[in-house]
Amino acid sequence: MMLNELRQEVYESLIELPKNHLVTMHSGTVSGRDPATGLIVIKPTGFRYDRLTPADLLVIDAEGKRLEGNLRPSSDTETHLYMYKRRPDIHGIVHTHSPFASIFAVLGKPIPPVMTSVALLGGEIPIGGYAPVGGEDIGSEIMAKIGNCSAIVMQNHGVYTFAPTVWKATVIAVEVEDLAKIAHYAMLHGNPIVLTPEQVTEFQNIYATLYGQ
Ligand SMILES: [Zn+2]
Repeated sequence: MMLNELRQEVYESLIELPKNHLVTMHSGTVSGRDPATGLIVIKPTGFRYDRLTPADLLVIDAEGKRLEGNLRPSSDTETHLYMYKRRPDIHGIVHTHSPFASIFAVLGKPIPPVMTSVALLGGEIPIGGYAPVGGEDIGSEIMAKIGNCSAIVMQNHGVYTFAPTVWKATVIAVEVEDLAKIAHYAMLHGNPIVLTPEQVTEFQNIYATLYGQ
């Protein structure tokens, strides 16, 4: 099999999604791009997480041509291809309909930066407009609205996260859902205190020097 390491990373990221309550049944997609070849490993469409193995994942090229795997690729493949073409810095994409972030999606509202952990995400999580699945509409809407953020909520749909690695995009997907959950409950109690852009930048500098192994 091709791209065994990347295949394993995509697989491990995929199985984190149900564990962290970000997906149910078939929903959600993870893909990763190999920096050396530009080839992409992506989840098959309509496939149960509990039956998934690394061998079920597909390898496709930048145009979406299937190079390895017998199953059909994710219905969201066009969006991933669109983003990889336009963002050479991105090598991992996670898409889910995680429930708390999707509350903001159905309200058509960004997720406010109410926790210092948003430093990892780039601040307020922007909201992208409604776009149908399957073509380039979601990708072009993401490019128009994402700015410097590593995540975006798409109206009436769900969340996309982007990172230099598949695992980082997965961590960000979990962080976004945590943030959305806290913001949602806080808003039920009143008006949460939102961090200023200066405070977000300050925490980004702190995380850059102190955080992680
Ligand atoms: Zn979706």
